[in-house]
Amino acid sequence: MSVIEMKSIKREYRMETKKSRKKQSEAIIVRALRGLDFSAEQGEFVSVMGPSGSGKSTLMNILGCLDKPTSGTYALDGIETSSSNANTFAFIRNRKIGFVFQSFNLLARTTALENVELPLFYRQKDKKDMKQKSNLSRKERAMAALKEVGLENRMDHYPSQLSGGQQQRVAIARAMVNDPAFILADEPTGNLDTGMTLEIMGLFQQLNDRGKTIVMVTHEPELAAYTKRIITLRDGSLVSDTLVENRGNALADLAKWKNDHALLAEDL
Ligand code: ADP
Repeated sequence: MSVIEMKSIKREYRMETKKSRKKQSEAIIVRALRGLDFSAEQGEFVSVMGPSGSGKSTLMNILGCLDKPTSGTYALDGIETSSSNANTFAFIRNRKIGFVFQSFNLLARTTALENVELPLFYRQKDKKDMKQKSNLSRKERAMAALKEVGLENRMDHYPSQLSGGQQQRVAIARAMVNDPAFILADEPTGNLDTGMTLEIMGLFQQLNDRGKTIVMVTHEPELAAYTKRIITLRDGSLVSDTLVENRGNALADLAKWKNDHALLAEDL
């Protein structure tokens, strides 16, 4: 079974414009996605690329169950999302998808550990979960997720006491704590310098090696080269879908980058 199975996805935006003279309104239809087919299996690491206006955000919103297509079907982990009611749609979003944003979106007055625990509070309201209560407490699960991203020594730090790369690690731990069907990352390194970017890409590669499915929107071909597959959108259509050959190793590149930087510092 595919984690993601999208068929003939169309998303049209209807825009009303007022004609100034006759004051009649006129509708313009913007075709943001024009019948897109896209599937991903467990363990894939997919980049979504394409120029501005090609439909990447529209696709992200539908993949993330933040929006529904005008037509077409989207099954996530075998659950058909397009026909689901509002409650089921929100349930799928909260439980099946781990979001990672460019801006981290952490709560400022809340420690790393509490930030990661947050999705588990919503989960507890879920009756099904109350019945099959996991043996691990919320805190233990959040601690395990932070350990997985290498932040076991920073659990009690507030976001302002962490570097950008560390804040993004907390956000990744938060995205994973519910054990989602896939991680959806939107330009996750857009606010980070080269070293931190390589660190985060290395972390994604490690998580993917352990079986996590990841979909990442990026503008940068160098970052897409660390993933396993690249889909490219243009004018709302999927124009290419290729496997990455000679995939980069972000942690090896990070070590090299650190080495080069140490040499530069010595030169000063
Ligand atoms: P990208 O993320 O690749 O820049 P988008 O998905 O944001 O592309 O946009 C795809 C197309 O849909 C663009 O032509 C954009 O102007 C249009 N569009 C996006 N959102 C809306 C909206 N809410 N209303 C009308 N048109 C929109």
